[in-house]
Amino acid sequence: MAFLKQIERKWQHKWEEAKIFEADPDPKKPKCYITVAYPYPNSPQHIGHGRTYTLADVHARYMRMKGYNVLLPMAFHYTGTPVLAMSKRLAEKDQDLIDDFVNVYKVPKEKLKELAEPFKMARYFHEEIRAGMKAIGYSIDWRREFTTIDPQYNRFIEWQFQKLRERGYITRGSHPVGWCPKDGNPVGQHDTQGDVEPEIGEFTLIKFKYGDWVLPAATLRPETIFGVTNMWLNPKVEYVKAQVDDQKWIISKESAEKLRYLNRKVTVKETFRGRQLTGKRVENPATQEEILIFPADFVDPKNATGVVMSVPGHAPYDYMALENLTQSSAELKEYGLTPDAVAAVKPVSIISVAEYSEIPAGDVIKQMGITSQLDPKLEDATKEVYRHEYHSGKMKPNTGKYSGLSVAEAKEKVKTDLIAEGKAETMYELLNKPVMCRCGTECIVKIFEDQWFIDYGNPEWKMKAHKAFDQMEILPEELRAEFNYVIDWLHEKACARKSGMGTKLPWDPEWIIESLSDSTIYMAYYTIVKHVKKHNIKSTQLTDEVFDWIFLGVGKPADVAKRAGIDAKVLDEMRNEFMYFYPLDSRHSGRDLVPNHLTFMTFNHIAIFPEALWPRQIATNGSVLMQGAKMSKSFGNIIPLIEGIKEFGVDPLRMGILASAELLQDADFSLTLARSMRDRLERFYRAGEAIAKTRSPEAAKSLKSQDRWLLSRLQEHIRMATEAMDKLAVRKAIHSALYELDQDVQWYLRRVAGEKETPKRKETVNYVLNQVLDAQVRMLAPVTPHICEELWEKIGGKGFISAATWPAPDSAKIDTRAEESETLVSATFQDTLDIIKATGITPKKTYYYTAAAWKWRAYSTALKKAISTKVIQSELMKELMKDNEMKRQSKSLAKFVGRVIDEVNRTSAEKKQKQLHVGTINESQILTEAEAFFRRELNAEVHIYSEDDPKRYDPKNRAQSAKPYRPAIYIE
Ligand SMILES: [Zn+2]
Repeated sequence: MAFLKQIERKWQHKWEEAKIFEADPDPKKPKCYITVAYPYPNSPQHIGHGRTYTLADVHARYMRMKGYNVLLPMAFHYTGTPVLAMSKRLAEKDQDLIDDFVNVYKVPKEKLKELAEPFKMARYFHEEIRAGMKAIGYSIDWRREFTTIDPQYNRFIEWQFQKLRERGYITRGSHPVGWCPKDGNPVGQHDTQGDVEPEIGEFTLIKFKYGDWVLPAATLRPETIFGVTNMWLNPKVEYVKAQVDDQKWIISKESAEKLRYLNRKVTVKETFRGRQLTGKRVENPATQEEILIFPADFVDPKNATGVVMSVPGHAPYDYMALENLTQSSAELKEYGLTPDAVAAVKPVSIISVAEYSEIPAGDVIKQMGITSQLDPKLEDATKEVYRHEYHSGKMKPNTGKYSGLSVAEAKEKVKTDLIAEGKAETMYELLNKPVMCRCGTECIVKIFEDQWFIDYGNPEWKMKAHKAFDQMEILPEELRAEFNYVIDWLHEKACARKSGMGTKLPWDPEWIIESLSDSTIYMAYYTIVKHVKKHNIKSTQLTDEVFDWIFLGVGKPADVAKRAGIDAKVLDEMRNEFMYFYPLDSRHSGRDLVPNHLTFMTFNHIAIFPEALWPRQIATNGSVLMQGAKMSKSFGNIIPLIEGIKEFGVDPLRMGILASAELLQDADFSLTLARSMRDRLERFYRAGEAIAKTRSPEAAKSLKSQDRWLLSRLQEHIRMATEAMDKLAVRKAIHSALYELDQDVQWYLRRVAGEKETPKRKETVNYVLNQVLDAQVRMLAPVTPHICEELWEKIGGKGFISAATWPAPDSAKIDTRAEESETLVSATFQDTLDIIKATGITPKKTYYYTAAAWKWRAYSTALKKAISTKVIQSELMKELMKDNEMKRQSKSLAKFVGRVIDEVNRTSAEKKQKQLHVGTINESQILTEAEAFFRRELNAEVHIYSEDDPKRYDPKNRAQSAKPYRPAIYIE
């Protein structure tokens, strides 16, 4: 462990000194520009944060070794609520947060007071996160670091927003947004606990009549109005009679409050419990039918109006509540109901759907074994019924003019008609409630009036976004459909807030551009910030025309430079640097940014830059679990990044985070995993150290078959690892480069251990192992760079391994014959072990009988036929019998063919090609060469005969069962 620490320090220091990760334009080299979403500096880093950044770093390191001039920059996102809300919680002395900071992250207690100020908090964690990123060895060009409150960056964002506005993508208007009533701010994903994007839906409120009053039942399925059998109110919660604009409504108390945010004028007249209305009758506006109001506990007063119409035929909640009610007839009196009245209410079927009986809600409830209206499984049941009905349901004749329509059609038509007739209206509500603001308040929907929006609903813009994604590589590809869905679903997004740090809207400076809107094209800013810092360019010099020239090539540079007071040469360099590194080659982030940031980034690039500069790739990854559980303070399983580094070492930690899962899977981190990685890497290091110094090219001239085998296998592992890395399947790459390659090395070491060790042979073996190590160190360098640098130095590699070349498979070293020969040895060895195990013999003498030449001829004839078609025994025999020698022993031949034909037919095409390519191998010679190995491993004498050797020792007549690649075995 101590040596790991020392290696880490040594190489991080050397990298920094040599500035090898500082990337400048180099016209002679292809570039690769990789960025990863910059962090909000509002809390310290833990291991979970490490995954996205480590993956981006591994990607950057890989591309560097592939010969690219790679730029990987980093900045810090001070903007908006994430920092603000956290400092506010400290200011309000939130004990959970304080415990967390002090006990888990070891933030000094005396610092806490200071951190209650947003800017100071951002500063503090900015330093902390940067230190962590350096300590874990990220290959970042730190010259480009900035924060989103730097005045020069503010100018850049102002310019971006001017462009968006000029191009018609900014609108002013009233739209529903997720809203925190406490903060008085719109909320997006980054403002909520658990990073939940508030999803806004539109309920239809169907107005049931109750005397002069209206009970507006909220539903997402207005087409089911024809199946309504009763009304539900929650008897235990408070309802109000309220004047809502010019109507008299009965709604939940919470609903009255929410309607105000939706710009309704609400005056509450009277408050009462729901039970006061149960047993009363209301009139269905669509059918004029009179129905009873029943009590139900599942009715949530916080959801829409808290008034629910009951459609037990098609809504599992309603079905269950009705069933529960029938069972509890004793209490009915209390609700003004009689058992007969309740029993008279039966589910009505109004939709026919192939998957179910008349009453789909009943079917699903039985399938899922639900017995209570408060069972959370009802949510899934509801979704399932809806899915089937929406896709294949047809409205029945009892739905009047909607009869025969699909559910999808009827849903829209019924809604439109009811609204037109004044029998319904709509209400926005959160579909994924409760959504909690970071401040702890439950979010609601507000009609955000007369505000600034980015118009992601613009159809032309959406079309271009689809085009951009069609051209983009998405890693992993499975996420493409999700992006397409998000593009279609996006609508106007509120882009400004009244509080927090950030950039002011240039034309309406009361407003601060919010954090998901000021982080969409900043990858462009990284390309020039280096010059801004170096030449101390002031924000006032960064005029719109300066940005127009740098990013769009618009204007006369000489004039622009003069007016801005920027050296013309510097301006030119900025333009060149942008044009050199753009477009962005890869954007990394966690998959939670798919529905917002990653899509917004693409939209904004489309809006600002020409098509040639749109992003080329998006790479996303899942999160990190801790021993199978989500990392969370309440589980006490958060490991701060710095702690993890101290505990396990950088390279084991990097490997632990990446080796346990492919991109989209959640990585399951555990202490055991990290320790086993550390042990594994230490072994790798020690083994490497031992062979590192011996390099003798002379030895390459005296390779044996087993040497050529390992070198050939190495090429395959390189090919596999490269293919995997190209798709960022890092886990797979590690498996090829470390585990699978190592299995081959272990086999090789066993094989050569039995050999007579002459100095020359020793040299050859070391040469082979050295070749393997050389490639292995390079393949592992992106993931475990520190250990690999150290080994690279020991091997005598030139320069840094971080700047060395990724290995390429050398086709000259692929040796199919050596591979087939080795397969013979290992298969024969395994067969021998199997026999020993089955018989329980301790072998003293082992006899191998290799297949006769005619069997090889017959076998290869079968193989050849099997390439194109399945071989039929009779046909093969017919063909073989043309051969006189075969004909002479037709009986043995028939027996042999019978034994191999299935095997040949089952052999993979690749294997068949390989074996045909190699032709007959000299099994006797190969086994004789491996004799020492067998002798040593089996601790027995070894004798090798051809099956037709007349002098062979074969007391049990085993020889005749020899097959090509499967010698017969006799043990005594
Ligand atoms: Zn809030």
